[in-house]
Amino acid sequence: MSDRFPAMARNATVLVIDPSPGDRAQICECLNQLPDLRIIAVGEAEHALQAIREANPSLVLLDSTQKGMDGIALTRAIRGWEQQGGNSAFAPWTPIVFLSSIADEDLLAQGILAGGDDFICKPVSEVVLLAKVRAMLRIAARQREICDVHRQLKEIATLDSLTGIPNRRYFDDMLATEWKRCLRTDTPLSIVLSDVDFFKQFNDIYGHQAGDACLKAVASTLSESLFRVEDSVARYGGEEFVAILPGTDANGAFSVAERMRQSALELCIPHAKGIDGRISCSFGVASTRPRASSAPQQLLRFADAGLYAAKRAGRNRVSLNSDCPA
Ligand code: GH3
Ligand code: MG
Ligand code: MG
Repeated sequence: MSDRFPAMARNATVLVIDPSPGDRAQICECLNQLPDLRIIAVGEAEHALQAIREANPSLVLLDSTQKGMDGIALTRAIRGWEQQGGNSAFAPWTPIVFLSSIADEDLLAQGILAGGDDFICKPVSEVVLLAKVRAMLRIAARQREICDVHRQLKEIATLDSLTGIPNRRYFDDMLATEWKRCLRTDTPLSIVLSDVDFFKQFNDIYGHQAGDACLKAVASTLSESLFRVEDSVARYGGEEFVAILPGTDANGAFSVAERMRQSALELCIPHAKGIDGRISCSFGVASTRPRASSAPQQLLRFADAGLYAAKRAGRNRVSLNSDCPA
């Protein structure tokens, strides 16, 4: 078979929702003819949502004439639940095929509008059922592949390839998001900008590979110095790193930066031209309560000025920029 028409996914799961035990048995027997297929059958729509959450089926076959919650309402509930998984264009999607003994065009149209994907008339023809199930599983498998690739690309686009921590693009997005959040909640937002001291000389003495290994170690220890889930550190560029601390005021941010400074020093990476013969970092801290009249770039500029002051004052230190409006 050509690659353009991939086989249905191995170990796909089909969920059959049908109140009639006889119909359920007949559909399951028919589906059993397909290899590597896991089949789950439930009688009531109320149990279906739980089965979907637990079994993550590749396809749902739904008798649309359900008692209690009807097929249309169940379809809407499934689509609603899928959307809760995220607002990405690649939210999970499970094909839903209606089974109905009523060949009613309006019912078909309503089902498709509610989020269904196809319609099969009962009594079910084995040939039609198997053909449609194959087709839907093929589409579902391709859609899951696209979701996986999308997730991988997103990761590549937001992680720094050398250190494995978030990159500048991620930081820019996070800063914009956290700025808006802190503006809404009237809470402080702090930035810690850091830079490895005398790193050009480190590369010159020990070589670029040793330089890369040093940056990885620094990135990892700076990340480990942040204890709150909402805090994050990114590689800002070259040998510079930046931490965002939402809901943290100037004093708190200063303590976090001190912890980061200490952790870099405690790596004890030898540096013949460094402070006390080892690698160290300098830090600039700025903190503010975001206002509609200011912008996150201003906060960053204050942190940068703080970093410059720390360098001028002798490096391996934290400088809090008190010019930044609280
Ligand atoms: P200062 O204490 O004032 O910060 O001095 P410095 O030498 O650290 O600063 P400078 O800006 O002069 O040099 C930064 C160096 O960082 C130069 C550049 O080659 C090196 N660098 C930037 N990115 C990388 C990287 O990914 N790997 C390696 N090995 N080196 C890098
Ligand atoms: Mg630098
Ligand atoms: Mg430097």
